[in-house]
Amino acid sequence: MKKMCVQLDEREIQDNPFRPDLWRIVRHYPLTSDVNFYQTRPVDNDEALRLDYIPGQFVMMSIPGEGEAPFCISSTPSRPGMLEFCIRNMGTLTSTLFSIKENQTVGIRGPYGNGFPIDKMEGKDILIVAGGMGSAPLRSLLLYVLDNRDRFGRLIYLHGAKNEGEMLFKEEFIQLKQREDVEMLMSVDKDEAGTWPYKVGLVTTLFKDMGKIDPNNTYAAVCGPPIMYKFVMQELVKLGIPKHQILMTLERRMKCGVGKCGHCAVEYLYTCIDGPVFSWWDVLRMKELIGRGASDKTIA
Ligand SMILES: Cc1cc2nc3c(=O)[nH]c(=O)nc-3n(C[C@H](O)[C@H](O)[C@H](O)COP(=O)(O)OP(=O)(O)OC[C@H]3O[C@@H](n4cnc5c(N)ncnc54)[C@H](O)[C@@H]3O)c2cc1C
Repeated sequence: MKKMCVQLDEREIQDNPFRPDLWRIVRHYPLTSDVNFYQTRPVDNDEALRLDYIPGQFVMMSIPGEGEAPFCISSTPSRPGMLEFCIRNMGTLTSTLFSIKENQTVGIRGPYGNGFPIDKMEGKDILIVAGGMGSAPLRSLLLYVLDNRDRFGRLIYLHGAKNEGEMLFKEEFIQLKQREDVEMLMSVDKDEAGTWPYKVGLVTTLFKDMGKIDPNNTYAAVCGPPIMYKFVMQELVKLGIPKHQILMTLERRMKCGVGKCGHCAVEYLYTCIDGPVFSWWDVLRMKELIGRGASDKTIA
């Protein structure tokens, strides 16, 4: 019997949108007991120079034989040549990433998704509200605004975690408290050891501490566990921030990242291309985007 052999020429390989580039893990270390921080650089130096993205975008990261998953970018395009990620040990791919050694390579394709509408946000006050892993994408926005400080108004970051041990970027963010051009407010839900020097309570308790804001001149960016959205939205709507200026980055299971497979689609929206950043206005029209928490009744 004649053997079937499919020969791909170089162009067909290059044109494959699912072909990842090789990236090197240059450094990694734990942020908490189950979340690691990764710094990665393209193996191809030209790729490092070409790299561009927007805060809020994500990539698809893969390890041959283990799989591929989306991860948002935690670094800022204003510090080029490198991508940083915070990754929670959840399953097949991420557990392998937890045993990976520095200098080993992974596959990365992207960046994908819409990211934050930075052009519209310029000139406005920025209020960031992050709970738990929500800091993974929001750190990118925070660092971007800090690196372009003269292009934005007031910068407020409300950072919440279950407890001190689970707080991502604890030292980095505590250091930011020294700066006068960012209001960094931090809280933990519980402080059983009594060692946490700042606020104890849910992230929403920090709203009382940030002083008066100018709602029409403010863009809010929110990311955290689903339960957090309901209560944070109540606060933001109470403050009077217009619905289209309340932005949130959402996660849905996705496979392709390019609007083809349909895994992340909600009615006519694809989280991978129309998101992962949505406005509160989008979410109210498409309630399934964050489930039952999204209802005008919850915020009335
Ligand atoms: C846009 C976007 C950005 C993201 N950014 C980050 C990030 O910055 N950091 C981060 O840590 N994670 C992030 N995630 C989540 C991450 O992609 C997932 O946790 C991913 O599944 C981990 O891959 P894994 O192979 O290790 O886990 P998997 O083996 O896929 O398992 C993960 C968990 O999901 C469950 N699961 C697996 N398949 C299904 C299914 N079909 N339906 C329901 N549950 C299932 C498993 O039981 C397990 O509990 C992001 C997701 C999206 C969509």
